[in-house]
Amino acid sequence: MRAVGLHEDVVVATSRAYQTTCTLVRSGGEAFCIDSPVLPDELEILPAVADQAGFTVVGLLATHADWDHLLGRLAFPAASLGVAETTAARLAAEPGAAARELREFDDEHYVDRPSPLALGQVQALPVPGHCEIGDEELALHPADGHTADGMAAWIGWANVLVCGDYLSPVEIPMLSPGGSRDAYIATLRRLEPLVDAAAYVVPGHGDVLEGARAAAILREDLNYLAKLPDAELPMARRSPAQRAIHAENVKRTSHPPRTG
Ligand SMILES: [Zn+2]
Repeated sequence: MRAVGLHEDVVVATSRAYQTTCTLVRSGGEAFCIDSPVLPDELEILPAVADQAGFTVVGLLATHADWDHLLGRLAFPAASLGVAETTAARLAAEPGAAARELREFDDEHYVDRPSPLALGQVQALPVPGHCEIGDEELALHPADGHTADGMAAWIGWANVLVCGDYLSPVEIPMLSPGGSRDAYIATLRRLEPLVDAAAYVVPGHGDVLEGARAAAILREDLNYLAKLPDAELPMARRSPAQRAIHAENVKRTSHPPRTG
């Protein structure tokens, strides 16, 4: 796991699995942990990473309900999890899904984990809205389209955008079963002014981006989505894994052939 400081109040840790990012944000003596690393050793060391940086984690946030972003409680078992109302609805509609998918990942990769995932009490946050932290607040923006749910967090005093599974330098836009191309495009347009104002953008997967680089990915992704199902893969994201995501995107955006 890599950890980088973006601001005195913002540290980002990146998992060795899927390059999933975890953002620690602090104000006035309290800190939140947004999303999570994936592997057991990373989750075990995360409290020490936070401690050493002087971040006292009192709460967890998740950008969306996909299992690989929901593991914060394995690092901070006493903290409660706050999510967008859309994410709370998805978690309630799919009870146990995250824990089951985590088990499937662990089985596939021969990962031993000391304890199973229990999300505990989940707090639904109004989005768009604000979430108080210390003397500051996070601005929460809807971010759906990759999935049916989600939010992005704008850390205004640090000019950092934590956007969930959008604007990734390693993953093309992924239309999951609950996702939609139109919603995805609307989310990118909503995020655009924040990206333009951002010093750094933290994507759900991959390296932290400077604002200008994130803006370039945003344009590339809008272009890709607009051209689906006939889109070409962006130049830097053409690995076999990305081609597999692309094939699913094509299926989801192709109209069924007319019959009769
Ligand atoms: Zn993800």
